[in-house]
Amino acid sequence: MCFFIIADLPEQCSEPPEDIYLSECYYGLAARKGRQLVCVVSGNCSCGLFWEGSHDEAKMRAKYVKQGWSATKIKRALSDSAAHGSAGIHSGLAMWLASVANKSGAIRIFAHWDSAELNADVQHPSVPAADVRAWKIPAEGWVTIESSSETETANGNGGGQC
Ligand SMILES: [Zn+2]
Repeated sequence: MCFFIIADLPEQCSEPPEDIYLSECYYGLAARKGRQLVCVVSGNCSCGLFWEGSHDEAKMRAKYVKQGWSATKIKRALSDSAAHGSAGIHSGLAMWLASVANKSGAIRIFAHWDSAELNADVQHPSVPAADVRAWKIPAEGWVTIESSSETETANGNGGGQC
């Protein structure tokens, strides 16, 4: 069971930071014209792109065991954590997403928990690029990251390159 961050990006994009890769993924979603739809991963999934410990089940489980929680309580806490998204995202990734959004006008991302059915109709409120670093990514649903750089979009630089 893993998180995947699916991103709807301009076709031409700067490279993500070290150890972060764009890989093909579909989940039944179609890329729009002039856009690419990719999974943003480190390793085989996107779990590692959340703040350390935010969705590290083994670590969370160990902590709860130490606190003397029952197996049932631990199971509930772990599934709650999966259902409610996570803490913030990897700071390098956050900065890259913000810069892509600032250069291209807006991008969309979808955090998908792969034991759940993907519902592409869910739309969460959009987030300004400047707030991405502190942002708690919601699971299951599109979020638009809006450019925080008014001058660039006002100059008509929202043409899809980033
Ligand atoms: Zn994973």
